[in-house]
Amino acid sequence: MKLLDLNETIVKLNEMGAKKILLQLPDGLKPHVFDYFNKLSASFNIIVSSESFYGACDIGSRDVYSHVDAIVQLGHSEIPNIKYPKPVIFLEYRDSHKIVFPEDIFNSLKAGGYRKIGLLCSVQYIDHMKEVDSILKKMGFSTVTGIPDRRMKYPGQVLGCNFSAAHAIQNSVDCLLIVTTGKFHGIGVQLSTSTDVFILDLNDLSLKNIKDETDRFIRKRYVGISRALDAEKFCVVVDTKVGQYREKVAEVIVDRIREMGREAVILKANEANPTDYSNMRCDAVVFTGCPRVPIDDADKFAMPILTVTEFQMLFSKNPPKRYVMDEIVA
Ligand code: SF4
Repeated sequence: MKLLDLNETIVKLNEMGAKKILLQLPDGLKPHVFDYFNKLSASFNIIVSSESFYGACDIGSRDVYSHVDAIVQLGHSEIPNIKYPKPVIFLEYRDSHKIVFPEDIFNSLKAGGYRKIGLLCSVQYIDHMKEVDSILKKMGFSTVTGIPDRRMKYPGQVLGCNFSAAHAIQNSVDCLLIVTTGKFHGIGVQLSTSTDVFILDLNDLSLKNIKDETDRFIRKRYVGISRALDAEKFCVVVDTKVGQYREKVAEVIVDRIREMGREAVILKANEANPTDYSNMRCDAVVFTGCPRVPIDDADKFAMPILTVTEFQMLFSKNPPKRYVMDEIVA
């Protein structure tokens, strides 16, 4: 993996007059921590956070960042609508390796009668999205890139907690195509829209319709969350990360639980530690922080753990008629 260029960051830190800097890295960039530390240490007093950072929604604990002048977070793009309590420089990781797309990769779109394609991407692949756009246009397709809400920085960008770029264009295109790796973003886009969704998976250079995968996802989630139907005691969790904090949402959920004659405690935590909820003897957890946590970490919990929308699907007075992905919107 190519090292991120820190020169511009160093200029910005000098302009700020920052002396003591907290360096934050996602796990994928940690193998290079000595390189980044050595480069920045030549000019600044650097402290490295050993926490895992999954997104720009998280700048770690106040106890740590309150002792520095600025934060440098590597890998993620800024979430523009968050008011960060410290100056933060986000240095994005962009995948820039040369990709030669097979000539016939979009033939199935043509055969399927799709003409107008809505383009989306995970942010690290945004440069490849531009290339895909130009290939599609050369093949005679027309393309539209979704303009997201203020939580996203770039046109077409989607996050595991925000698919607003897809909502914006779903009714004006024949299908959506997301440039990414893995399945999660594609499933999220499929669940948040009612149009056909394809993943252009850059890992194996394949184009896949995500519908079957989405159906499997829904079945698995329903099996997991339906165990919460008879729960009597709920833990409703507010994640204290700066871009995941949804206390009002948690309060509405607690009110509904009590209205149903069941018990709920509201909890604040910076990490969802499964042992905590086992110790509290709760029957179900509703997690209002990152919507990926209940989905990715469900197997680590002894009890069902629900997203906000899953709670609404099971318990609200007017439940949505289909599975809805939880989103944190601007
Ligand atoms: Fe990523 Fe979750 Fe944070 Fe959204 S809330 S930016 S999906 S870590």
